[in-house]
Amino acid sequence: MPELPELQALVEGLDAALAGRVVTGARQLQPAMLRTADPPLAALAGRPVTRVWRRGKLVLLEAGGEDPGERDTPSHPTRAQPDQRDTPSQTTRAQPDQRDTPSHPTRAQPDQRDTPSQTTRARPALTLVVHLMQSGRIALAEASTRPGRAVALGIAFAGGQELRIREAATHHRASAHLLTPEGLAAHRPLLALGPEPIGLAPEGWRAALALPPAQLQTALRDGRRVAGVGRCYATEIMWAARLAPLGRTDRLDDDAWARLARSADAVLGQALERARREITTALPNAERRITMAHGHAGEPCPRCAGRLERVSFSEYELVYCPACQTGGRRYADRRMSRLLR
Ligand SMILES: [Zn+2]
Repeated sequence: MPELPELQALVEGLDAALAGRVVTGARQLQPAMLRTADPPLAALAGRPVTRVWRRGKLVLLEAGGEDPGERDTPSHPTRAQPDQRDTPSQTTRAQPDQRDTPSHPTRAQPDQRDTPSQTTRARPALTLVVHLMQSGRIALAEASTRPGRAVALGIAFAGGQELRIREAATHHRASAHLLTPEGLAAHRPLLALGPEPIGLAPEGWRAALALPPAQLQTALRDGRRVAGVGRCYATEIMWAARLAPLGRTDRLDDDAWARLARSADAVLGQALERARREITTALPNAERRITMAHGHAGEPCPRCAGRLERVSFSEYELVYCPACQTGGRRYADRRMSRLLR
């Protein structure tokens, strides 16, 4: 599952590739992906991408309300409005990039900008919020290539490229929401997110995780407490900070919070540097990560050479070093102990 470093590298790459480019069309190939109906996906057509960014594990593609090309002509004080498309007295002509979007057959023309009687009002920007979850992926592809069955949503750009969001799993957990500025401001998954972890001070970590008390490994992966950390980097951060995964967050002392803050910066910062070298405009199916503990159960701890142990939960396992993190204590296998009960 992509986490903060991979997603941050991706949005930086996509922003560099797409900012300023005009959306020529959008299509939905799997209806389950897009969870909003208004505004329609077709409303993205004709809009330039203003930025691609990330918050937690959410990828946000923002498309401006301005007309294509307007960025270069800021001196025009007046611009035709979209709601004038129904005014019968105006001549209407589809713009070249809208030829294939019959839902916008009539829109005010660029040459009406200079008509003094018209007022200026930009269309509200639209933001596509994508949550990839476990098996969703994003890639900028050549539009001429076959999308493949897993592609759920495609956004086409002038120049023949398409941003494709796919969901490989059958349970369709990945989601997309197309939102107006008001919708974005009220979008619960976004509002509920805790602070970003990189650069968060020890006090910020304490405020985010200590209360209500929880197991550290659970709290670290809860995006409402701190955003963007999943199983892999939670494991890595706890190993780096020498913190017990099943320890309670309300019992950590000042030194533990300081270690947590420092380790999160180091682990996520290094992973981000690595991800930037490997990820630009496409997320790989499986992350190529360099990890110290995650995925290394049974191997020697890189710090103390003791054996890394695993504790298994129903859906995942967590790796830790008893010598470094739990004072030598080995956790019972959560799966086994439930079966044996
Ligand atoms: Zn160790």
